[in-house]
Order: sequence, then C-alpha cells, then structure tokens
Amino acid sequence: EIYCDNAATTALDLEVLDAMIPYLTNHFGNPSSSHQVGRKAREAVEVSRKTIANLLNASASDIFFTSGATEANNLALTGAIKTYELRQVVTSRIEHKAVLQTLGQFNQPNEVEVNFVKLDAKGNINYEQLEKRLSINPQTLVSLMHANNEIGNLNDIERIGEICKKYDAIFHSDTTQTIGKYQFDLQQLKVDYLVGSSHKFHGPKGVGFIYINKYKKIKPHIYGGAQEKGTRGGTENVAGIVGMAKALEIAYRDLKEHQNYIAFLKSKMVSNLKALFQDEISFNGESESSQNSISNILNVAFPRLHKGGVLVNRLDALGIAVSGGSACSNLTNVGSHVLKVLDRNLDKDSVRFSFSKYTTPQEIDAILKATVEIYEQDLFAKKTENT
Ligand code: PLP
Repeated sequence: EIYCDNAATTALDLEVLDAMIPYLTNHFGNPSSSHQVGRKAREAVEVSRKTIANLLNASASDIFFTSGATEANNLALTGAIKTYELRQVVTSRIEHKAVLQTLGQFNQPNEVEVNFVKLDAKGNINYEQLEKRLSINPQTLVSLMHANNEIGNLNDIERIGEICKKYDAIFHSDTTQTIGKYQFDLQQLKVDYLVGSSHKFHGPKGVGFIYINKYKKIKPHIYGGAQEKGTRGGTENVAGIVGMAKALEIAYRDLKEHQNYIAFLKSKMVSNLKALFQDEISFNGESESSQNSISNILNVAFPRLHKGGVLVNRLDALGIAVSGGSACSNLTNVGSHVLKVLDRNLDKDSVRFSFSKYTTPQEIDAILKATVEIYEQDLFAKKTENT
C-alpha cells in the first residue's frame, strides 16, 4: 500500500498518539468539572491552547477549539458577517467548499453580495483588482486561502492582509493546508480570522482551531455551555486537542528538515514525470513551481488518457492512494470545482499527488512505474478500439 494523498489527510504520528492516550484513559475528566479529575483535563486543554498560540506567535486567548477547519471556516464567516452586519464579501472561485458553501448561504438579494477576485489561467489572484474593489467598497469581508488544497497555489497572505488593512476590510484566511508547514507570526500578519485542522499535520481527525484577532469579536455559532468563552458550546475534545498541540509542536520542531525533504520528493516526481511523459502531461495551476506552490502538492493533467478517473482508479487497484480532486468532491461526484475554474476539461484527467514526511523516494518510483504502465495500457486500448 502506498499513500500519496496527504492533502486529504495524514497519518497520525505515533508520538502524537502517545501524548493522547492518557486523556483517552486515566484523565478522562470533563474540563468544565470543578473536581480534580476535571481540573486535570482543563489543564491539558489550556496548556495545548498555549502551545498552539506560542507556535503561531499569538495569544492563548485568541485560539478557539473547533471540530476541524470546516467548522472553523463556518464560524469565522458566519460570525463575521453577523457580528459586523457585513453586506459585501470578496472571495475566489477556488476556495474550499467549506468557504464557498458557507458564503452561498448568505448570497441572497438584499442580504450579502459575494464577489469573486479575478484569477489568471494558473489560478493566481489579481491583487490590483482586489485592491480596486476594496477601495470602492470598504467594510468588506475578504476570504482568501493561503494554499489551495488541490493545485497547491500559494497566495500572498501578507500582501492581502496589508490591502485589507488599508481599506478597513476584515480578512479571513483558510490556512488549513499551510498550518504546520509554514511559519506564522500572528503578531505581524494582518489577519482577523485564520483556521487550522489537526489531521492535515499528522494529528487526529475531528479537531481544529480558529484564531480570532483580539480586536475582532464574533457571535457564537454553536449555542450551549460557556465553553470556548461562549463562542462554541460543547464539551471539548480533550485528547484531540492534546494531540493537535503535540502534532503542531512536532511539525514546527522538524519544519525545515521535513519541508526540504518533501520539496525534494516533489522535484523528483516533477523531473521524472517530465522525462517519462514529456509534452503528454501538464502541471495544473502553479503546482510545478517550487516558489508559488506548497511543496507537498502536485497536480498533473494527462489529457490523452482514455477516460476520466482512469488513472486514480487503476492506481487504487494497485494499492496506490492518490486523488482526482479534493476528498470532499468525491462524495458528490461533481468533479473538481477548482480545476473547472482553470479549464473545463482538466478535471477529467488530472491526478493530485500529495506527499508527507512518511513518503519515501522508493514509493515515488513505484508510483511512476505504475503510472507509466497504466498510461501505456490505456493508450494501447484506445488505439485498438479506434482500429
Ligand atoms: N479547507 C481546506 C483548504 C482543506 O484542505 C480542508 C480539508 O479537507 C478543509 C478546509 C476542511 O477541513 P476539515 O477536514 O478539518 O473540516
């Protein structure tokens, strides 16, 4: 079995599991209970909050725990729109569905107007157009991600933050793919809401967080107890939170080493694909670039392939896990909205490879070998069909 779909989720680091076990066994208390068992759990939650805050150069009081990035994005967008009674939103057509679907709920006449920034053919934001729009319409919510989860494109969130500040816009960034992979300095970055999800950096699933800038408020979105300062009721996922903090600690402890290693894997994949397939393939978005895209995502189009999805399914049959788009779009079978924005045909014959610290060079070789074999068989089948 080869796992090369780390943008969808990552394997739990065993060091993380070790840190979680006491909170799944002996220290099972409810962090809101006032007895010792409860206090032990509360302490673990608060230490984890501090750890995460320190790693991002934020204050612990700015970090709120959620069930993941989907919930954190919902909370940020719904909360900001309702709290500040916003009527204008700017986002992009290649944001994650957790952003687009949430904004879609508000996009009604006389409610909220959702506008989309212009993107070039590779999915890069037109920053001048963004600035122009904000200069006409201040009091806007801007929601733009850091790295795209399908094509890997990196947006310049420092620049977006500066533009937003200049025009008094509120800036939310979906940083799910970059938390634990890039350094963040939240004292410097001009961002109001930012989100992370533990399972993208070798932590457990079902836990994430939102950073809320101390100068911003947010209305609750889950009503209930006073957990998370009333912003999000519900008993905290103690072991999950402990695991997330540990996973983030490891991610930043080993950041350089792992990022260099993963970049090496990607460049190996790129150079081999180019040598093997030459102009039979192209790289989607900026994913080939080492500067403009995140190092663990490579999205490749094989336009001469016989049928859509053939490569993903055939690799799967050989025990190689890659993906056609995001994991979420598999559920609806509608294909990739991101690739469709770039080019209508891309989403039929593209494959996303995404690496992690656990991917080996031998696995890359095995994926390449299998890809060539499948490709040749497929083209051969196509040829015989046509004769
Ligand atoms: N945003 C982006 C960019 C993602 O890649 C994902 C992952 O699927 C999410 C949001 C949703 O994260 P979660 O699985 O924690 O809800």
